[in-house]
Amino acid sequence: MALSLPYADPRQLAGKTILMRVDFNLPMQDGQVRDDTRMRVALPGIKELLAERVRLVLLSHLGRPKGQKHADLSLAPVAEHLAGLLGQKVHFAPDVLADGLADAVSGLGGGEVMLAENLRFWPQEEANDDGFARHLAGLADAYINDAFSAAHRAHASIDGLARLLPAYGGQTLRAEITALQTALDTPQRPVVAVVGGAKISSKLAVLDFLTDKVDCLILGGGMANTFLAAGGVDMQASLMEPDLFETARDILTKADARGCHILLPEDGLAATSFGANVPHRAVANAALAENEMVLDIGPASIKAAAAQIQKAATLLWNGPLGAFEYPPFDTATVALARIAAEQTGKGALVSIAGGGDTVAALNHAGVADQLSYMSLAGGAFLEWLEGRELPGIAVLAEQVRG
Ligand code: AMP
Repeated sequence: MALSLPYADPRQLAGKTILMRVDFNLPMQDGQVRDDTRMRVALPGIKELLAERVRLVLLSHLGRPKGQKHADLSLAPVAEHLAGLLGQKVHFAPDVLADGLADAVSGLGGGEVMLAENLRFWPQEEANDDGFARHLAGLADAYINDAFSAAHRAHASIDGLARLLPAYGGQTLRAEITALQTALDTPQRPVVAVVGGAKISSKLAVLDFLTDKVDCLILGGGMANTFLAAGGVDMQASLMEPDLFETARDILTKADARGCHILLPEDGLAATSFGANVPHRAVANAALAENEMVLDIGPASIKAAAAQIQKAATLLWNGPLGAFEYPPFDTATVALARIAAEQTGKGALVSIAGGGDTVAALNHAGVADQLSYMSLAGGAFLEWLEGRELPGIAVLAEQVRG
């Protein structure tokens, strides 16, 4: 069943005081924002609200201060960075429990914006403390969650506030949910998923959920080694998880029963050490020498995977197919990402990628902006791929059900 959520309509919120949960958990370096991608994505939604003369109070976390104040995890430099991007003053609230905060918020003019200090400086945020949420809710007329990437946490700024104020999803949250629904709930078939990365252990639930949803699952990365070894191929020195051989066999049996075709690599790029440009060769998995490890899927496997992606109408991608940080073990990830981008560009494919190292891998392939949707959410994207209900989304859905 398609999930129905209340989304914010800036025109209907004109002139109101709004608390908006954003994800400004940005990579920082020496007290400066190092990568503002997440902020730039949120910018159009912020501008639209400000254009409607909303008094906007932005809430976010940064890092893991664990309920304590840490000068190096302050959002003050993030407020300055936002001011630069918006071209207007951004007020900063250093203490969200200060008595003067309500006056400061009511003193905002229509179209003015404030960023509150890192909410995780207060233990009440992660504890989803009711008093804390009530204090914040008392500042505003309505609440918007525009932080899909934090929606898997039942914290005060995600869950508590949504129960206390008229609550809506914001623009970037809407884009994320729409992309995930396009891929998993109402997809054009065939649906192909690419799942790579180092280990099966971190992705068991994802594999289980996807074999139920997709027509073909292309496996690569270190996790493919475990599947191959579990099927009797001697993967020699390759990264493997022998204690999961049985689990890997179960996943294959289940996939078969569910009509999901699993495509395992037949060859690899193998080396005897880990690193950039180390001596390597393309070799059938079955012909690996004793000291060799597979660090990327090989040319025959790339060809087979490419054929599947070319036939697909919908593609979901999580995880690199090889140790992409060390060329040439980025070959498969780059080659298949380019095919996905090409098919997407032709209008033949809806492509959705995200989770963990995937953004870095597809940025490295130079195609991140040529896919239909690239999720910047790590944990929340993966939890959705596990079929789990995210607290921050569930609480918004409850608003619709009443
Ligand atoms: P994950 O965070 O699970 O998506 O794993 C990403 C990591 O898996 C990257 O750092 C890759 O270098 C690593 N990786 C992918 N394929 C292999 C492989 N065949 N052997 C060892 N590491 C790999």
